[in-house]
This record gives sequence, structure tokens and C-alpha cells, in this order.
Amino acid sequence: MPVDETARTPQVQNSMSQTLFEKIVAREIPATIVYEDDLVLAFKDINPQAPVHILLIPKKPITRIGAAQAEDERVLGHLLLKAAEVARQSGIAESGYRLVFNNGRNAGEAVPHLHCHILGGRPMNWPPG
Ligand code: AMP
Repeated sequence: MPVDETARTPQVQNSMSQTLFEKIVAREIPATIVYEDDLVLAFKDINPQAPVHILLIPKKPITRIGAAQAEDERVLGHLLLKAAEVARQSGIAESGYRLVFNNGRNAGEAVPHLHCHILGGRPMNWPPG
């Protein structure tokens, strides 16, 4: 049976549909924020896989890179430029770093809100695991 979205109050509908990362944007869940502007937010990963492990997300809840639309071109370009800036500010630019977008099940995507992993501070293997 189809759900009558109009029957829900905006607040209830919002809290039911918000991703974990939208809640971080809204300051409903705490995070160690390292960069923010109108379009993106960067915060430390709660389970770091490298000495520096930061997640950079668009504030707009784009589900994953494969779900991005042409209208998202500006925010995605901005996000990539800011990834490099956050890496520089985190002191990993000179030694090198890796940017990762996990897209879908086989890639290990766990949070359905587009995020760029910024990983650095140690040598990394290729191919990735
Ligand atoms: P992915 O597997 O690409 O979807 O990555 C999701 C990432 O979010 C993982 O690296 C998690 O450690 C990270 N994560 C999950 N919950 C939080 C949180 N509350 N604060 C910061 N990072 C988180």
C-alpha cells in the first residue's frame, strides 16, 4: 500500500529519512569537524583506517556518486577541490594521500550519503583490498 507522505508532519518525515551524515550536518550527532562551507562538510572518520582519515561530504544528500545528477556538477567539482585543500591543511599533501568513494555493495558502501574518504599519513597498497 502506498505511504501517504502528506500524512506525516515534516519533522517526523525528516527524522525518519535523514541519513547519519545529514544528522552530522544538522549537528544532531557529534563529529570532529575540520572544514565547513556552504556546500560541503569535512569531519574525522569515527573508525580511522590511516593516521589521517577524514570524510568530506556534500551537504546536499546525494546518495552516492552513481546517483549524482548533472545539476550536482558544481558541488562535486567543489568537493574535489576541497578534498585537496583539506589534505593540505591536514599535513598529508606532501607525502601523498588517497581519495576513495565507495559506490554500492561490492565497494563496501555503508552510509548512503555520498562521501569522499581522505586517507593519508602512511604508505598504501595497490591494488586496494
Ligand atoms: P563507507 O563504508 O564508504 O560507506 O564509509 C562510511 C564511513 O563512515 C566509515 O569509514 C565509518 O567509519 C564512518 N562513520 C560511521 N559513522 C560515523 C560517525 N558517526 N562519525 C564519523 N564517521 C562515521
